[in-house]
Amino acid sequence: MEIGEIRCKGILGRSGIGGMDYAVNPYLGCGHACAYCYARFMRRMGHPGEAWGSFVDAKVNAVERLREEAAKRPRGRVLLSSVTDAYQPAERRYRLTRGCLEVLLEHGFRVDVLTKSDLVLRDLDLLRRFDEVEVGFTVTSLDDSVRRAFEPGASPIPARLDALKVLSEAGIPTYAFLGPMLPYLSDEGLEGLLNVLADRVGRLLVDRLNIKCGNMPDIRRVIGGNYPDLAPMFESALKAESPYYKTLRGRVSELCRERSIPVDIVY
Ligand code: SF4
Repeated sequence: MEIGEIRCKGILGRSGIGGMDYAVNPYLGCGHACAYCYARFMRRMGHPGEAWGSFVDAKVNAVERLREEAAKRPRGRVLLSSVTDAYQPAERRYRLTRGCLEVLLEHGFRVDVLTKSDLVLRDLDLLRRFDEVEVGFTVTSLDDSVRRAFEPGASPIPARLDALKVLSEAGIPTYAFLGPMLPYLSDEGLEGLLNVLADRVGRLLVDRLNIKCGNMPDIRRVIGGNYPDLAPMFESALKAESPYYKTLRGRVSELCRERSIPVDIVY
């Protein structure tokens, strides 16, 4: 992993994501290296042609810039993060996300974290001081071998589930993002996953796998290398005429209803 250091001109960016006013991305690139990642278009910012997940730039002045911007901008809801994971491995060393949280707390912003790393627990002391906060974990499968194939740099699934439990018991509102649902991989063991999540998240968000931003070659590489027999069915499920995601929607709705888990299926 190549870790560079850059200086940013701005850090409190307007967000087009529903319900969010701002997004803060303390890093450019992401060491979690998810094969399906939609943020890989960020390579155009100084890393054209490089493999997604092979580089990270730490915005070393992020906290200083945020302190200036937060003092001037209207209060609002801030997503950490939208095109990187704020708790990826580089955060252990740079602590930029922690610094940004301190500034956002000081200035009365609401914070929404979405991560795949249990490093977020390091900042529990700060998170519990926010008036409004929510922490979400992405969980694409109960099976950690799927995580190793598709999200090689991110925390193992058991660590994410444990972190949700700790957060929930600490009184932090939590949710799980089941997305992207990977055909025939994410739905394997789905009932067991929902049984675990039922008492540790307040809600679920579910999304399908979208082919965009040039992610298909990496997805094909992972499927071909790990699940070659599944490849034809996997690709077929992604076609517009396939009933796969419609059927999955019905199944997820029913399983969540049985377990009284509020769910929002966003595809
Ligand atoms: S954690 Fe998020 S931003 Fe990072 S590689 Fe995975 S999908 Fe992309």
